[in-house]
Amino acid sequence: MTNDSIKKPALTVDCPNCQQSIEWTDQYPERPFCSTRCKNNDFIDWANEEQRIAGSPNYDDIFSESNLSDN
Ligand SMILES: [Zn+2]
Repeated sequence: MTNDSIKKPALTVDCPNCQQSIEWTDQYPERPFCSTRCKNNDFIDWANEEQRIAGSPNYDDIFSESNLSDN
């Protein structure tokens, strides 16, 4: 008895943005994201986080203190 007609199960991954399980197939060209929308959302979140850290007063304090000790 052969099982030639049975495909191997596709690898599944969780969308980093919405945690929805998707199959790692051509059905999801934006994988590991489930959709273009999730892909864009993740990038926007990342960009906002970068800006927030760069503008943080605490970060500026640490930066200027290390400059002072260098001198
Ligand atoms: Zn998603």
